[in-house]
Amino acid sequence: AKGKSRGTISIYEPEMDQQIRDRRVLHQELSVAIKNGELSLYYQPQAATAVSATASEAVGFEALARWHHPVRGFVPPGDFIPLAEESGLIVEMGEWILREACREAASWAMPLQVAVNLSPAQFTHGDLVGLVHSILLETGLTPDRLELEITEGVLIEDFDRGLSLLRRLKALGVRISMDDFGSGYSSLSYLQAFPFDKIKIDRAFVINLGRNPQSAAIVRAVIDLGHGLEMSIVAEGVETEEQLAFLAEEGCDAVQGYLIGKPAPISQYAALVGG
Ligand code: C2E
Ligand code: CA
Ligand code: CA
Ligand code: CA
Repeated sequence: AKGKSRGTISIYEPEMDQQIRDRRVLHQELSVAIKNGELSLYYQPQAATAVSATASEAVGFEALARWHHPVRGFVPPGDFIPLAEESGLIVEMGEWILREACREAASWAMPLQVAVNLSPAQFTHGDLVGLVHSILLETGLTPDRLELEITEGVLIEDFDRGLSLLRRLKALGVRISMDDFGSGYSSLSYLQAFPFDKIKIDRAFVINLGRNPQSAAIVRAVIDLGHGLEMSIVAEGVETEEQLAFLAEEGCDAVQGYLIGKPAPISQYAALVGG
């Protein structure tokens, strides 16, 4: 009612207020989510392509965070991770995720790898290297079974600090993966500068395999490039037998995607990890 005379902007005010209130509430709820046991990890298998790539040849799992809100139900990580990042909560949450993933993997009879996603804020706040070190000691997970997935966004802010952190993490014996490769801007220079063990080819390129020849050319080139740098290559978002066949043919080391197995509670993969 007070609206129009103050110009068009006021028309949107109530809606914006609502959005800000929603955000604030969601943020408060997220801050107690860990304590309330609402966060959990799903695990998605990665399978070697050398053998026939089915989940039964899993070489490792990526841990993916899930938030089961008591009223809203399932909130996808694409929604709550950015919220946790912008509020700084990600540091505490990231610590919980890392500890939980290491604790889980340490309980497996099979010595498979576990990959954990790191946010930029975890690089810039606190003592990440000290944290990883103490969680490994605490859980008894051997360092070579832990893989840390980072996007180039993590390294863009402060090159020297990023490089020093990655070197110190590697000195602990953990592996480092470059996640979402190809989705950013400075990927090639980052590959040369930073000591990655693995490249994860972004799902966007995998989706277009078989649809356009450019994607096939890019995927082929990334596999060769990565191998030339002595890195192993994982393709993300593999959904079809055709994609898998192409990737296997081109020498991609491992695949991850719905074709192999969806992210699920680890109980669903009990047979693979050996309980
Ligand atoms: P991401 O690290 O690139 O994870 C892969 C995403 O692709 C996951 O989405 C996974 O469920 C989805 N995916 C896997 N295979 C397929 C497929 O064959 N087809 C399709 N359409 N999708 C597939 P999810 O679990 O929703 O996670 C989304 C993003 O949220 C992740 O992307 C990651 O950036 C972030 N995230 C998830 N868990 C964590 C976490 O514990 N910490 C941090 N910092 N970020 C996380
Ligand atoms: Ca990832
Ligand atoms: Ca990814
Ligand atoms: Ca992604």
